[in-house]
Amino acid sequence: MRLVASFNPLPALGSLFYPPTCVACSGTVEGGEYLCADCRTRAPRIVAPFCKKCSEPFFGAITQTFSCANCEHRTLHFDAAVAAYRSRGVVRKLVHDFKYGRQRHLRHPLAEWLGETLNDPRLRGRHFDLIVPVPLHAARERERGFNQAALLAELLATQMALPLCPALERIRYTTTQTAYDRAERMENLQDAFRLRKNRDVRELRVLLIDDVLTTGSTLSECARVLKAAGAISVHAATAARA
Ligand SMILES: [Zn+2]
Ligand SMILES: [Zn+2]
Repeated sequence: MRLVASFNPLPALGSLFYPPTCVACSGTVEGGEYLCADCRTRAPRIVAPFCKKCSEPFFGAITQTFSCANCEHRTLHFDAAVAAYRSRGVVRKLVHDFKYGRQRHLRHPLAEWLGETLNDPRLRGRHFDLIVPVPLHAARERERGFNQAALLAELLATQMALPLCPALERIRYTTTQTAYDRAERMENLQDAFRLRKNRDVRELRVLLIDDVLTTGSTLSECARVLKAAGAISVHAATAARA
């Protein structure tokens, strides 16, 4: 005899995990969604033309002598860094609230935007062996309570059925990058990362994950370390691009 069959605790439990209002504008959302239809539409997608290496968008027609202002005159060690959205408006707000407002549940809408990079021709159909998040310095991670890149990488790894491997560690605690100009940022990252003990990336194809690509310096430095340790290729994907 099943006396409890009429009691279904799932809707109540569900509302704990799915806020009933839009996480960006507090408007009404469809069941189980984080963002309302308006905010989804307003998220600024990166559309062609953009740099094939670093996804920097361009405006107007590209001439034959085109070069990317972000990439030229420096070596970026990743094979390509892909973002589907610009960090503007609703995207920027969610990234900020996630990272600095400690709103862990925002990893879900951000991971959806991150997941859209897999439709990009630079990543689509490509074989990866493992997913590596950009690490935070241990002190920074303690202070924030989590590594935002690792939370996003975890969701993507599940979606792609790939192993998640925190292969890198950040060994230099640097001040927040926004205070520095570009030259200083690159200087600042020297020897910031290293391969963790007992991690092996030899002969592996890596998908490197971060929340936001700003200049690409962090992803490049991580890719350099991974390739120096024997990785065959390092592609990067982020939820947004500054
Ligand atoms: Zn909304
Ligand atoms: Zn570029």
